Amino acid sequence: MRTVPPNGFAVAAPSLHELSFRELIARCCVSDEATLRRDIKSTLLARGFSFVEDDYVSYRSAERRPVSGLCNLLLTRGAPRVALVAHTDVCRDHDAFERGTPMPVPDPVIQRHDGRTILRDRHREVQLGGDDRLGVAIALWTALRTKRPLALLFTTDEEVGLLSAATCRFAQLATLDLLVQIDRGNHSHQLVDRIHEERICAPDVATRILAALERAGRPRETTNGGSTDVRALRRNGVCRDAINLTCGYHESYGDSGDEYIDLPEAEDTARDVRAIVQEFSRARRARGAKAQEPERHPP
Ligand SMILES: [Zn+2]
Repeated sequence: MRTVPPNGFAVAAPSLHELSFRELIARCCVSDEATLRRDIKSTLLARGFSFVEDDYVSYRSAERRPVSGLCNLLLTRGAPRVALVAHTDVCRDHDAFERGTPMPVPDPVIQRHDGRTILRDRHREVQLGGDDRLGVAIALWTALRTKRPLALLFTTDEEVGLLSAATCRFAQLATLDLLVQIDRGNHSHQLVDRIHEERICAPDVATRILAALERAGRPRETTNGGSTDVRALRRNGVCRDAINLTCGYHESYGDSGDEYIDLPEAEDTARDVRAIVQEFSRARRARGAKAQEPERHPP
């Protein structure tokens, strides 16, 4: 049985690990937040991850409409050096909550736009949710396509003021070399190493990441970005170095139905994230860790 309008994507029945990359993006976009989190936990628990959740309570739970399980969620496998970061809340839900109306569900369809292949709500009425369900999908895809040690941090209420990240106190994050947030839109091929001119990543670490991406054949340029979760985490001393990557969502302004995902750009970002994880895993191996297992190819 389908839970969303038919759209050519198998978004209802298959488990997350059975989906293609594009199907996974669509599933992440249409899922309600609590269901998405339950699916992520069950999928990754079966693949060697364990998870911890904190006692953050979303204002949406604390107020008139109970929403379960919306807190900071950290999933880890092995002894990771890198955490991928994305927020699971979307503007369309916050706005519906404020209006007291049911949460709208987008109907993602593939379209052509300026010569690019994109995913957007069929009638441009409902925000697709690329910000930041695309980041969630890329993090999840990476976790499903590598056997390397890895951490994933999922936050919520980013869109209403970095609320959960500001309370996040997972001690393990400070032991990691790098947090990679996947949550910059409306631009392409950028790597945010400063937010409002405040450094979130040491220059030598940023240089190392850029070199790894250059070797992978997909150069990015550093830029000064807007506020997002890793800024709150850095300010609270919860992590060392952090970056934020453009990932492929565009025309993303609040809950506008114009928002779309550039699918080739999303696929490139998944490759970039894999290259960064490999780069920091290599350093670990050089220090004497066991050899890594071979990987299946991402998109
Ligand atoms: Zn975002």
